[in-house]
Amino acid sequence: MKKVVVVGCGSYMNSGYGCPGEWRCLKAASMGEGKFAEPSSVIGFVKCECPGRTMVPNIGMTMKLSELKPDLIYLSSCMVGAKPDCPYSSPEEKAEFIKSKTGIDVVLGTHDYH
Ligand code: SF4
Repeated sequence: MKKVVVVGCGSYMNSGYGCPGEWRCLKAASMGEGKFAEPSSVIGFVKCECPGRTMVPNIGMTMKLSELKPDLIYLSSCMVGAKPDCPYSSPEEKAEFIKSKTGIDVVLGTHDYH
């Protein structure tokens, strides 16, 4: 089973309209649905905070404190498909930055549930 970390948009999570951490990402991971090719173990759920500077350090801290290295890092569907977009960086830029700092592949999106 793959170990994964999911990153959600903290601005959206804080709005209370349906936190990216409520169930969708977790169900997709556990069932191997959506962007998860197989049932996966979520070892961390990291909340991005505007303007995004803490995202990579918090992913690093998650790995350090859990003593687990994820096989993949996922940007949540809410984060990737946000409308209006994140004003600070695109999902592709975030993915490239995370990969450059951690060496871990990043998947854009988590689930297709509504
Ligand atoms: S920087 Fe962008 S992705 Fe991160 S919390 Fe703010 S709006 Fe969301």
